[in-house]
Amino acid sequence: MTEKYETHEHDVLIIGAGGAGLRAAIEALGQGANVGVVCKSLLGKAHTVMAEGGIAAAMANVDQSDDWRTHFRDTMRGGKFLNNWRMAQIHAQESPERVRELEQWGALFDRTSDGNILQRAFGGHTFKRLCHVGDRTGLEMIRTLQDRGVHMGFDVYMECAITRLLKDGERIAGAFGYWRENGRFIVFKAKSVVIATGGIGKAWRITSNSWEYTGDGMALAYDAGAELMDMEFVQFHPTGMVWPPGVQGILVTEAVRGEGGILTNNDGDRFMQRYDPEKMELSTRDVVARAIYTEAKEGRGTEHGGAYLDISHKPAEYVKKKLPSMYHQFRELADVDITKGPMEVGPTCHYMMGGIRVEAETAQTNVPGLFAAGEAAAGLHGANRLGGNSLSDLLVFGRRAGLSAAEYANSLAAPVIDEAQVNDATREMLEPFERSSGESPYDVHSDLQEAMQNYVGIFRNEEDLKRGLDELETLKQRGSNVRVEGSRLFNPGWQLARDLKSLRTVSEAVALAALERKESRGAHSRIDYPDYDEQWSKLNNIIARDGDTMKLSHAPITDMPSELKQIIEQE
Ligand SMILES: Cc1cc2nc3c(=O)[nH]c(=O)nc-3n(C[C@H](O)[C@H](O)[C@H](O)COP(=O)(O)OP(=O)(O)OC[C@H]3O[C@@H](n4cnc5c(N)ncnc54)[C@H](O)[C@@H]3O)c2cc1C
Repeated sequence: MTEKYETHEHDVLIIGAGGAGLRAAIEALGQGANVGVVCKSLLGKAHTVMAEGGIAAAMANVDQSDDWRTHFRDTMRGGKFLNNWRMAQIHAQESPERVRELEQWGALFDRTSDGNILQRAFGGHTFKRLCHVGDRTGLEMIRTLQDRGVHMGFDVYMECAITRLLKDGERIAGAFGYWRENGRFIVFKAKSVVIATGGIGKAWRITSNSWEYTGDGMALAYDAGAELMDMEFVQFHPTGMVWPPGVQGILVTEAVRGEGGILTNNDGDRFMQRYDPEKMELSTRDVVARAIYTEAKEGRGTEHGGAYLDISHKPAEYVKKKLPSMYHQFRELADVDITKGPMEVGPTCHYMMGGIRVEAETAQTNVPGLFAAGEAAAGLHGANRLGGNSLSDLLVFGRRAGLSAAEYANSLAAPVIDEAQVNDATREMLEPFERSSGESPYDVHSDLQEAMQNYVGIFRNEEDLKRGLDELETLKQRGSNVRVEGSRLFNPGWQLARDLKSLRTVSEAVALAALERKESRGAHSRIDYPDYDEQWSKLNNIIARDGDTMKLSHAPITDMPSELKQIIEQE
């Protein structure tokens, strides 16, 4: 099948304009590369803009005893030691510099009384470590990176969705996609590609993620031959809105607990005393999410099946200043004044620790010329991410991915675009319009979300996971037979028909890896294997494509150098 398409050529193509993609673009531009940035929605609308609580960096502005070693130790402990220790080390060492850089580029953070960047407490962090701008940190970060990148001169392709990576033999050659506005196809020819497409939250029914987070980058990379790692580790944030139904899942930032918010059940019991008496509400997210879920399941939940989160003991003006978005969110969406009474909250699918397997130093995948950073990449967070460590991840590894992609591109001649691959990608996109019958993509998506919510959720067991995999197999057949009506102009049903392919790939990878890991660790809780297993503490699950089959193998975690071991062992 042939159809006219436009072609654009870049040294480095970046897919995704969140914090990771923008930071990568800035670095690649700084190396003299010609850079294109593609995003599925408008520039500035990536998930990063929604980030509320802050950026974790051991700057020691508030707690002077903080340093990179403590941040490294907290990150490894939070990740239950499955983290790529080298990534955790680089992240802890480089985050402060990346935040200072952001400030030099114009980011205006909240301040200490002596004029330094203010830092707040967050779950799992020993010290007050999160640099923030009220509860709108992501907005400031995106604004700053965008201004800098646009000023330096990257080309932006907005409302443009990539549906396939193109290859020239083994190496990456670019990407194929379409303009959502007019439905026309577009080919990018690029020497290197950085995947920065964020997470996969739309695979679950209750989620804090927006429509764009369908796991495209992970699925595109997998199809192109890249490995996925630790896909079983999906973070369910403890506090999403539970009421009214239309807003279920929308995030209630951890900053509420960071600022002193208290969790109680329907009996008025501060139940975290029973789950983590030492850290209480500031325990790690996996522990708090399971605690709220258990309270509700055992009949001690709120009217709508959650827990109460209360910050109204703090002065109203303080709450409005430190948590302005939460104040407005509850006022407008739930008719609740959080300065006067509690919020109702419950777990919501939030973040993907697993993702594309990359090298720590370069963010390079096993496919030559393909790099990945941010939430789409795996390694840094291990079995559970600490709040605030994503925004710093984007800055640290976004920068490294941009640098490596530019260096790689610098050493090579332009690749060749294979027309057969373009034609196949075109055919795949047009098929849903050409079927005379078929299901609605919305029905298939809704059933997929239900299957993942019910069988691959917070608590898992073998029977449910096998059932989930069976359902996904059926959904695979149904998903490849969906029919789309209407024109190609801004057709969200058409977009969803394509998104279903990514959703099915990442969902299968999550369920398969979850079935394989026969232990409970971090965000992965197996009712049938409730304890840690020493053997599993040394293994990452790796998923790769073998023809049309998903193949799972184990990769041993390399031993940490003794100086890092010493840091971990310190109290
Ligand atoms: C409500 C909320 C609050 C949060 N608060 C915090 C916080 O306080 N601190 C913290 O550390 N973390 C926080 N997080 C997590 C953090 O915001 C995300 O993990 C992070 O922003 C992801 O950044 P990213 O650059 O990897 O991707 P994103 O910011 O998710 O951007 C992905 C980009 O990829 C594009 N894209 C996706 N698919 C395609 C495709 N097929 N073709 C073209 N483009 C595509 C999208 O359009 C978008 O531009 C929060 C998350 C949410 C949802």
